[in-house]
Amino acid sequence: MARKAKYIFVTGGVTSSLGKGIIAASLGKLLQARGFSVTIQKFDPYINVDPGTLNPYEHGECYVTDDGAETDLDLGHYERFLNIRTSQANNVTTGRIYYDVITKEREGEYLGKTVQVIPHITDEIKNNIYKLGETGKYDIVITEIGGCVGDIESLPFIEAVRQTRFELGPTNCVSIHLTLIPYLKAAGELKTKPTQHSVKDLLEAGIQPDILVCRSERALNNEIRKKLALFCNVPINSVIEAQDAETIYDVPVMMRKEKLDERVLSKFKISHKKDPKIEGWKNFLGKLKNPTEEVNIGLIGKYVELKDAYKSIAESFVHAGAENECRVNVKWLHSEDFSKDTVERNLKDLDGILVAPGFGDRGIDGKIIAVQYARENKIPFFGICLGLQCAMVEFARNVLGLKKAHSVEMNSRTKHPLIDLMEDQKNIKNKGGTMRLGAYDCLIKKGTKAHQAYGTTKISERHRHRYEFNNKYLNEFEAAGMLASGKNPKTNLVEIMELADHPWFMACQYHPELKSTVLNPHPLFIKFVKAALAHKKN
Ligand code: GLN
Repeated sequence: MARKAKYIFVTGGVTSSLGKGIIAASLGKLLQARGFSVTIQKFDPYINVDPGTLNPYEHGECYVTDDGAETDLDLGHYERFLNIRTSQANNVTTGRIYYDVITKEREGEYLGKTVQVIPHITDEIKNNIYKLGETGKYDIVITEIGGCVGDIESLPFIEAVRQTRFELGPTNCVSIHLTLIPYLKAAGELKTKPTQHSVKDLLEAGIQPDILVCRSERALNNEIRKKLALFCNVPINSVIEAQDAETIYDVPVMMRKEKLDERVLSKFKISHKKDPKIEGWKNFLGKLKNPTEEVNIGLIGKYVELKDAYKSIAESFVHAGAENECRVNVKWLHSEDFSKDTVERNLKDLDGILVAPGFGDRGIDGKIIAVQYARENKIPFFGICLGLQCAMVEFARNVLGLKKAHSVEMNSRTKHPLIDLMEDQKNIKNKGGTMRLGAYDCLIKKGTKAHQAYGTTKISERHRHRYEFNNKYLNEFEAAGMLASGKNPKTNLVEIMELADHPWFMACQYHPELKSTVLNPHPLFIKFVKAALAHKKN
């Protein structure tokens, strides 16, 4: 039978970056652990149709779903916490809403009406809120509204939430407001005023929050809780403390202690007598916090100043580390910082080297030098997307003697276009949504290290790139020991390359980091960490 969904809205106040995504994912996890089918979506109030065209410095990593949507990095948290798959419907921007409304207007769908923010934009937002619930697949849909209450650009979203609450009625809708309780050192006190103001902003927009989740450096005493309850109109048991956590993975357990899940369920008039089953999660936390070993892995990229740019890779190491009961210290290294003369100094203490995804030629030489160092010194190596492309260029130049080999992305007139555009990419002019995106199948050769890691020959992984390994060179590569251990069964495009004569040298054109979750750490990351451990012991 199709389920009738209930809706939870998560708004934020006082400042951005309070971690709405983590709170939403943690609540989702707790509800899921009580047997509910849960999904989470995020609305982003910016005008880009999707974050695919954003520089990583602007907004961190662009997360890609199976259906090829380029989305906000919070969707990565949703998938990693809940072990679910998200899709385009889980991330909607202002740009997409307007794009769809304007397209309908041009098609004459509004029958001569004046098209306006209210009702047309807000209706389109509501369609997107209801869309996931109407699939009949979910008991609970959590909707996170990006940005802060009071921002001009989030107004239509807040108005759509108000209308949805009105349409669904109080037992089908819960509104959670995430806010900051700053600690003033000079006064020696936690301050509630910014929260009072932010709740007033919400009230002005017609929304009385049901639950306050309060980020703070310190614990909230009873006095503060009472004050917040009185001035913000919420029951005292709905003032939830969210102290700064050691890791994001502690947050579900912290929210459980504060009974956030129970508060939500009572609002929905659903019984919450039984506890959620979070033993598996606690097991993971136990392993994460009590490592018996430690390795240092260098992540070589060009956006390393902003760690959010490689969010999913960093989290994949957390999952794979816990699985190996090993602390993975990721050293963030800037590929522009090293040359042939400095590479030894920069990389000699590492137990593993990962060359990260990326675009454009800035820092490319440093990446190629790092690959060479890993290959020649038999240090475990993992190349992802651009990392594979760099590894192949390095091999072509230094092993096969094709000195001029390069990727066409970096040198359009290279004599050896080792990494090249596919025919169907050549005439594309637009930048948005035009790469090879989303899930594609890959067939793995038996007996390879990739096969050992996955334990199967048929996999599906997610992509986000324009350029591909040029199969014209494949025979030469394989003859020299660089094997295509995974290929797309339909197009024959290379997906995985590995070096036979090396303890662990693996490169993939897809993004394995997008599929690692707490429950299912990614096999290639697990094996990479294992290889790093073995290297260290040697
Ligand atoms: N710039 C490369 C390409 O477009 C690699 C992309 C990536 O690393 N995600 O093919």
